Amino acid sequence: MDKLIITVAPTGSIPTKKMTPHVPITPAEIIEAGIRCEAAGAAVFHIHARDLKDESASSDFSLFEEIYTGLKQKTNLILQISTGGRAGANYEERNARLTLRPEMASLTTGSVNFPNRVYANSPDLIASLAKDMVRYGVKPEMEIFDVSMISNAVDLVGRGLATPPLHFDFVLGLKGAIPATIENLTHLRSCIPSDATWTAAGVGRAQLPMNIHAILMGGHARVGLEDNIYYARGELATNERLVKRIVRLSRELGREPATPDEAREILQLKPSGQDG
Ligand code: ZN
Repeated sequence: MDKLIITVAPTGSIPTKKMTPHVPITPAEIIEAGIRCEAAGAAVFHIHARDLKDESASSDFSLFEEIYTGLKQKTNLILQISTGGRAGANYEERNARLTLRPEMASLTTGSVNFPNRVYANSPDLIASLAKDMVRYGVKPEMEIFDVSMISNAVDLVGRGLATPPLHFDFVLGLKGAIPATIENLTHLRSCIPSDATWTAAGVGRAQLPMNIHAILMGGHARVGLEDNIYYARGELATNERLVKRIVRLSRELGREPATPDEAREILQLKPSGQDG
């Protein structure tokens, strides 16, 4: 089995300082989280930006630029910028950040009914973002909330809008999407191309069990406060501590964590520092 790629999603769109003081919100806090998580064993860092006044999800390019530039200077992490739409549903609000040419960006290949609203990703929007990723040399992480999104992602390859090997992130346990069970996880894995790589992200209490199953099944693991703010029942987590726990458990189970450069090889990214 390959070494384990640990992705950390430190911020997301939802947790606020009121929910947990440990969520990094400002660019300085997010950069600091990146430095700590890299030292703890993370290889990939998934980036969202927040409005500095009210902590809401932001699509402000200058915030993404500040976070991206700071992390690039101070870490060797694979930077993965979210193109998620909570901070704006339009292509124009989501695509500008791709001009930073991060090594990776997330791409959700379908729509989901979240509890209170539709997370809308139309076929045109998906194709436009995918096309930009090809143009800027960004490897997409296909965010999979349901089985049909896998075939939507594979379909992009046939249209020249994505290049194999694909990389998938299975997001399980979000209300309105696929439940976090081992049966669902094994089914998702059985649906992806044989040369693809994959990561499991569980929401809330599902984070740890989905990570552990992924470690045993040869997948990779995503942790972080975006998906889960608790370390244990009633005990708030820090991003760094969540990374450290997965490093410890994964080593016990016989898989060493991948360094960012080792993760680049596993994901078949271009060598660090090259623009595509
Ligand atoms: Zn995200």
